[in-house]
Amino acid sequence: MPSTPLLPLPDGLEITSVSKASESLLVRVTSNRPSSPCPLCSTPSSSIHSSYQRKPMDLPCTGQPIRLLLTVRKFFCRVASCPRKVFTERLPELLEPFSRLTTRLRTAVQDIGFATCGKGGERLSPKLGIRISDTTLLWSLFLVKIPAVEQVRVVGIDDWSWRRGQRYGSILVNLGTHKIIDLLPERTVESVVDWFEAHPKVEIVSRDRGGTYVDGATQGAPLAIQVCDRWHLLKNLGDAVEDFLVRAKIRLASSRGSRKSSWPNREPTAFVFYHSQALSTNPGASSTKVGDLSAGSGAPSARSESHQNCSSVGFSSQYRPHVCAPAP
Ligand SMILES: [Zn+2]
Repeated sequence: MPSTPLLPLPDGLEITSVSKASESLLVRVTSNRPSSPCPLCSTPSSSIHSSYQRKPMDLPCTGQPIRLLLTVRKFFCRVASCPRKVFTERLPELLEPFSRLTTRLRTAVQDIGFATCGKGGERLSPKLGIRISDTTLLWSLFLVKIPAVEQVRVVGIDDWSWRRGQRYGSILVNLGTHKIIDLLPERTVESVVDWFEAHPKVEIVSRDRGGTYVDGATQGAPLAIQVCDRWHLLKNLGDAVEDFLVRAKIRLASSRGSRKSSWPNREPTAFVFYHSQALSTNPGASSTKVGDLSAGSGAPSARSESHQNCSSVGFSSQYRPHVCAPAP
């Protein structure tokens, strides 16, 4: 009988029988196509050599696993110049050569793999009528065809790790679509140069501030504009501020320990921050403390301003912060 809506098949294939086995439905399928093209020379041939049976798993039907008993044929290739004398009938709409899963089942397994993981997919699949191991599931993901890398105008490049802290490659992102377009196995200038030379339409390169990508983009895409990406700008700013605060905290501790030590004349340190906070919360007490500190040589001098709610801390250097105390 021809294929049914419950089990659609490509043209030229028909179902000859359906039987129930212990763990699945067995569906016998036979090809009745009059000819098949040779995979090498593409010349159709109708000279049948022999036939044999393949047993791929198919998508489940009403929750029941389905195994196809597919009879395929072998043909002679009559083209004298073709090195392939006998070839197997190809059924690309249904089954890839040597595959034990039909194409539609392979696609479903890949979707499960992308949505879950190896072990998770292995636990989920039987509930959907698919019996598959985590190894097969993960292997199916390797069979997904990677789309060809298109020409891009704005590209971002950064590190990605094979293993964090040990081995890194380079990741390239199309910043127009925000999609990953390529992975380079290495993080070297040469690999980056090769990639940019293969993609000459790049106009803008967003990269970090390291030398590898600067050199790679400069050599591989000399006409492209290079910009430092926002993440690295913010990270560098955060590192600089953190470093400044750490150094300032050290100076504050040393200033507390020795009041007679010499004060930096120009550098704004945590002293400013500390006394600004003090003046904001307790202007009277802070004025006393600041006045004591002024006894040292080169130390900041404090003075009271005439207006009531405002105090200022004067420094012998050019650094003069002005702090307003809260109203009483
Ligand atoms: Zn041929």
